[in-house]
Amino acid sequence: MGYVWMNGRLLPEAEARVPFLTAGLQYGMGVFEGIRCYATADGPAVFRLRDHIDRLLDSARILGFPPLPWEAEALVRAVHDTIGANDLQSCYIRPLVYLAEGGMNLSIDSGRPHVGIAVWPWNDYHGQGSDTGIRLNVSSHTRHHPNVMPTRAKVCGNYVNSFLAKTESIRLGFDDAVMLDSAGYVAECTGENLFLVSKGRILTPPAAGILAGITRDSVIRLAEDAGLEVREEWFARDRLYDSDEIFLTGTAAEVVGVREVDFRPIGAGVPGPVTRRLRDEYARAVRGLHGRSAEWLDRVPQQAQAAYKQI
Ligand code: PMP
Repeated sequence: MGYVWMNGRLLPEAEARVPFLTAGLQYGMGVFEGIRCYATADGPAVFRLRDHIDRLLDSARILGFPPLPWEAEALVRAVHDTIGANDLQSCYIRPLVYLAEGGMNLSIDSGRPHVGIAVWPWNDYHGQGSDTGIRLNVSSHTRHHPNVMPTRAKVCGNYVNSFLAKTESIRLGFDDAVMLDSAGYVAECTGENLFLVSKGRILTPPAAGILAGITRDSVIRLAEDAGLEVREEWFARDRLYDSDEIFLTGTAAEVVGVREVDFRPIGAGVPGPVTRRLRDEYARAVRGLHGRSAEWLDRVPQQAQAAYKQI
């Protein structure tokens, strides 16, 4: 059985429960993170953990939560302890800050922030498509306008929009959805950022109006290290159709090539050379096998790895 960290204590999974009348559940009032821990030669290591925790705290501030009773360093330790308690070498990590103890009157100030952290083993998000490339459609659902929902923040309620789009795509037989913003330009996918390669240039939509992914930032830096320029630019869906390559980035999806959009094959219909190169560089970076690894990997301390034995 696994353990979940809740408000400062590691609890057996079955005891990590939330009352039915919790505003986080009733109204989607919460913010969360998706983080990955990878097995490396030096033990489990979390990819850009501090950056994820900082984004979690930023999301909480954007939503209007009062300061949490845990500072970033304490949450970093809590992630280590949760991984240790579950005795995992590699896993997905889900911290969540949610509104509890009130908030049923729709004011964040009438409740209190609670924090939980769960971990579980999770391999390829897109299954076999991770290697062969995935198929996308442009969704009939529009991405949030930033004055409707805070798109920079990883807010639980924002993901209703992702559920609508992804469920539609899967039911139509695609793997994921391209989401356009309210002006009709490409924004992002349901849980990934999008890049295209066209005539030797790499383009990605500007960070305003999307969740600026930590994988997106990492891949931009890996591309620049390799002498490839990435430009942030708005583009419409028609730029996708005749691009040479498209790839998506995200903590869960990692770097995944796209082989088809709206029934148009992309490039040769298989992940192209830029995609394969960046996918490989990222795979090495997260596993401690890249020049960037030391800067980006946060090793889970030995004492945290032993913590589960004491529970
Ligand atoms: N956009 C959305 C809507 C997402 O949910 C995610 C996943 N967190 C991303 C982009 C990619 O962000 P990251 O690389 O930080 O996981």
